[in-house]
Amino acid sequence: MQKHFEITRQRLQNFTGEIARHLYPQRAPVTLAFFATPDRISYSAARRGPYRPAAVNQQSGPLRFTYWFKVGVTIPQAWRRREVHLLWNSSAEACVWRAGQPVQGLTGSPASGGKPIRGEYILTRSAQGGERVTLHIEATGGFLNSPLHQAEIGLFDRAAWDLLWDFTVIAELARELPADSPRAGQALAAGNQIVNVCNLADRRTWPAARAIAAKFLAARNGDGQHNLSAIGHGHLDTAWLWPLAETKRKCYRTFSTAVAMMDLYPDYKFVGSAAQHFEWMKTEQPALYSKIKQRVRTGQFVPAGGSWIEPDCNIPSGESLIRQFLVGQRFFRNEFGRYCREFWNPDVFGYNGQLPQIMRGAGIEFFLTTKLSWNQLNKPASSTFQWEGIDGSRVLTHFPPMGYSSTTNVGTILESVKSFKDHERARESYLLFGHGDGGGGPTLEMLERLGRMQDMDGLPRITQRTPQEFFQRCAADLHDPIVWVGELYLELHRGTYTTQARTKRDNRRSEFLLHDVEFLATLAAHGPRRSRYPTAELVRLWKLVLLNQFHDILPGSSRPEVYADSAEHYREVLASGAKLREQALAQLLPAQGAGPRILAVNTLSASRTEVVEVAGQLSVVSAPALGYAIVDPKPTAAPPVSVTESKAGITLENEFVRAVIRRDGRLASLFDKRAGRETIQPGKIGNNLVIFDDQPNAWDAWDVDAFHLEKRSDVRAAKSVRVVERHPLRGSIAVEYDLSDVSTLKQTITLTAVSPRLDFANVVEWRERHKFLKVEFPVNIRSDHATYEIQFGHLNRPTHFNTSWDLARFEVSAQRWADVSEPGFGVALLNDCKYGYSVHGQMLRLSLLRAPVNPDAQADQGAHSFRYALLPHPGTLQEAGVIAEGYRFNVPLLLSATNSPVAEQSFFQVSDPAVVIDTVKKAEDSGAIIVRLYESHGAHGRVRLNCALPIKTVTRCNFLEEGEAQLAWRNGGVTLAVRPFQIVTLKLALRR
Ligand SMILES: [Zn+2]
Repeated sequence: MQKHFEITRQRLQNFTGEIARHLYPQRAPVTLAFFATPDRISYSAARRGPYRPAAVNQQSGPLRFTYWFKVGVTIPQAWRRREVHLLWNSSAEACVWRAGQPVQGLTGSPASGGKPIRGEYILTRSAQGGERVTLHIEATGGFLNSPLHQAEIGLFDRAAWDLLWDFTVIAELARELPADSPRAGQALAAGNQIVNVCNLADRRTWPAARAIAAKFLAARNGDGQHNLSAIGHGHLDTAWLWPLAETKRKCYRTFSTAVAMMDLYPDYKFVGSAAQHFEWMKTEQPALYSKIKQRVRTGQFVPAGGSWIEPDCNIPSGESLIRQFLVGQRFFRNEFGRYCREFWNPDVFGYNGQLPQIMRGAGIEFFLTTKLSWNQLNKPASSTFQWEGIDGSRVLTHFPPMGYSSTTNVGTILESVKSFKDHERARESYLLFGHGDGGGGPTLEMLERLGRMQDMDGLPRITQRTPQEFFQRCAADLHDPIVWVGELYLELHRGTYTTQARTKRDNRRSEFLLHDVEFLATLAAHGPRRSRYPTAELVRLWKLVLLNQFHDILPGSSRPEVYADSAEHYREVLASGAKLREQALAQLLPAQGAGPRILAVNTLSASRTEVVEVAGQLSVVSAPALGYAIVDPKPTAAPPVSVTESKAGITLENEFVRAVIRRDGRLASLFDKRAGRETIQPGKIGNNLVIFDDQPNAWDAWDVDAFHLEKRSDVRAAKSVRVVERHPLRGSIAVEYDLSDVSTLKQTITLTAVSPRLDFANVVEWRERHKFLKVEFPVNIRSDHATYEIQFGHLNRPTHFNTSWDLARFEVSAQRWADVSEPGFGVALLNDCKYGYSVHGQMLRLSLLRAPVNPDAQADQGAHSFRYALLPHPGTLQEAGVIAEGYRFNVPLLLSATNSPVAEQSFFQVSDPAVVIDTVKKAEDSGAIIVRLYESHGAHGRVRLNCALPIKTVTRCNFLEEGEAQLAWRNGGVTLAVRPFQIVTLKLALRR
């Protein structure tokens, strides 16, 4: 070899292509028949389909149809004892059905007519010769409306295949290793030598070529080498650019392929996450499912993640995320005999600061994601670190350097080591290989490459390992770990806090409805009738809610058909949930003579005094925590609301605040009489509706870019502002806006006699494209941070753009409120179904509606209704009860007519308002009651929980309702010490 290295590298590359042409020295035709259908039909229906003859290169029909092919194979006599493959390229995803079962997926080329991603199916490793095989192939009219490019059988030459991958690895090393490294030179020499000795037309020369390869590939690593654990994966979005029905097919294509490859490669391991995907296989593809289970037993097919689906982690409530694990982990344990110990959520748009505690409580110690490598401004500094949540819980966290759908090319492997950020403290990282997003998983060539790379000088040591094996090594190896405290904010996709607003509203409503049903049904089960707890129906409804929290559904990044399914699911949850709530109420308080009275039922942890409306009559009712009170129709002595009009505007005033609404609809002033403080910055206006231009650079439904703040237009003055209610207990103003020539907003601003909270109820007709509606409140409060409610807690984020980390958070997610406070005074902005906020300087903004067009051209078009409220408060947000108000604003008192002779009753109370009883439900596996509470102020404390029911024992358990530790139940209650933001789950057993 002369010193012409680049020319030699090119020579090696060309030779790779030449070997590939020898893989199938002979081919034979198949017979083809097909029919097309717009529906996703079963195999048994498809078998009887109206097949007609088909041919390769025949133009196919409409996009998104399913094409069922019947493929008749006759293996030539001469191919006896040889390996025979079906070769298929349909520019789409397809599934091979054999003897009634899905046996393998096939994936066409992304470009029309190119090399398929997975184009071969092994018909037999050893043919008899002359046998006939009939296959059915279910091809989706997926991403290209192009014909079937290839359908034939090929005589497979395994010797050429082995030579191909030996040579490919060597040629890639020669190209990818640093040119001045010893191994690059050695690879170049070995590859060149192989080309010289190997005559592809003469198989007798091949062994000599392989011997050269074997000698090169046998050079082992030194002791200091990095260890790469690898696992096959096919990231499978539960819905995205395809509906749930297609995901079920993606599941059996991906999983059957994985199982088939395990027959060929005994060390092959594949990880499947999301309990829901397995449940679909269990109910719809039982034969495949039993093969999966068998491979789970051999340790090759690895169920992972612990959650029902891979959920969004910004928007679901804390309880929802616990249920993701409770329902998910129970499935994994029941089906596969063990809980998952890792949370597998590679592709999610930010991770809230309570996740470490939620994971820990659900039996999870390890966390895997990759998404933060997408950060716009600040890349994460570590690949492996301890992540510490807002309560101090920690999980060992790993970001696989090459993301969640890597290849196993030499270049990728080298890049994987280079991108690992903790070489000074760790030697372990993870490689997830296989096609993903729409499933698919690893290809044969990925495994062939890996097989040659396990321990070779020049590359890291590579071994296929399960998540558990990897994380255990990772934990043992990592020393002096970096600790990251608080949320893992994704500096991208910030539009997902707002896009598809109806889905987000339905999610919030469903969460609280199921919360109410569980509390009331628990009481009913221990009430006079000992009613049956609707366990099965609640599990069914929860599964629907959890499913729709998938990381492309709830965030708003899916196609329209996904939202049609989702709307239907929520209709079901809301209708069935409402029925269950009514039933539970009726069972709890059965009719017993006496005239009908109105009961106000409070399903929340905090007591409340509110104005309620019964048959057109307003009255004030005070309802205790988690209980009820009778509504007294007699007039209340509360100081009344005054509504006064002047030229400047309308003033709503009660004993707490005075609000001035201008004639243009804006809030000129909100004066807190208790604190003697004005809430709105002098000279500015609050409740200012603004429409921003919202043209992200990429990822339309996902992204809002920082520059949207620079291009804004204030909504015109209101068309009308008028008083619509002047009652001593309540004053309301109706405001009507044209948001533009095509969109309108009707707003009702309300102040009651008993609360400083100023409510804004909105009905919007939204017809914009690429616009972002927000409401602004320039507040008369200076603080370098704002506080945002997250799951089971809250956290601070800066109100300035000092550094790139601060700037990156120009739009952030929150649960029910954000608050800006000074010592002594502050204001909270509450919402009933919104999740996007931004506070910059003294400007407090709530994000209301977006209008992206891709991937759903009609996203958010049409009618919307939502509420927000401004709550000024003396003292800190904790002292002022902002957290409880966030719950009250979302969960109205339930009014129910009863003729039961009941008096006011509270079933559960806590002695300290810092502690919130979030959830009361029946235990999964017994008649005990689960009470979940959390410390909401971020402070250490002691709290007493009292319960009016006849409790026998109380134990503390984890979120899976296991690992019980006995506590002392005395005098109707238990006393607990709590840590800041600690979530505590108690199991109360009743005396019978
Ligand atoms: Zn995904």
